[in-house]
Amino acid sequence: MARIPEVVINSQPNGEIDYEHLEQELSSRKHLSAIVNVNLGTTLKGAVDNHVQVIDILEKLKMRFHIHCDGALGGMLLPFIDNAPKISFKDYPIGSIAVSGHKFIGSPVPCGIAIARREDVKKIETKIDYIGSLDTTILGSRTGLGAISLWYGIASRGEQFAEEVSACLQNAKYLYDGLRQIGINAMLNDFSNTVVFENPGIDLCHKWHLANSGNWAHIVVMQNLSSSHLDTFIEEMKIWQETSKNNAG
Ligand SMILES: *Cc1c(COP(=O)(O)O)cnc(C)c1O
Repeated sequence: MARIPEVVINSQPNGEIDYEHLEQELSSRKHLSAIVNVNLGTTLKGAVDNHVQVIDILEKLKMRFHIHCDGALGGMLLPFIDNAPKISFKDYPIGSIAVSGHKFIGSPVPCGIAIARREDVKKIETKIDYIGSLDTTILGSRTGLGAISLWYGIASRGEQFAEEVSACLQNAKYLYDGLRQIGINAMLNDFSNTVVFENPGIDLCHKWHLANSGNWAHIVVMQNLSSSHLDTFIEEMKIWQETSKNNAG
């Protein structure tokens, strides 16, 4: 939209940004300003980038920068996890963060929260006299239902979010351990509820609505999953594992 040329930065095998590659690409463009997207939980692998390391690189190179934190899902997890990276406008020179409303908060309509520094918001604010309000969005009008839905989620469950996060992480660990125990190749990033494992093929993917990409599939362990759901899934993965091994052998 802004017609700014972008540079894709490599990721590490766990999905986290490759800091060396980031530094390399930035070094060769030191005369420019950088808008850097820091992911607080990648879609496929749930990898959380280290914003402190990204900031260190940018400051070392003395570049002008804006850091955007993509916290679509992770933005609702990190604040409730001990020792998780602290995303703070007070402590770090981050520029903005976005958190989806229809993921962890569970809004039935797509919506979200975007927070940016006032000085940046001021640059795009347009006063529209006939609606008596400031326009700050790209598209103009948006639904008030989203705002009500966010308010309702926070007002009714806000106190409970910490417990929900902790239950999701516990169940994610349960799934991860269960898959490893039956010999399935699996991965679970720190501060993440996304369990990544070898793609079990089209039948299981269809049955369980597994998102998959190439050799990998994942389950994002949300509030709706209990350990008994996960037991059933692990059992079916075990049967798949045994049959695929027999076929291979
Ligand atoms: C879901 C997701 C998005 C998209 O967010 P929407 O609010 O659904 O548009 C962006 N980034 C990440 C990492 C996501 O997981």
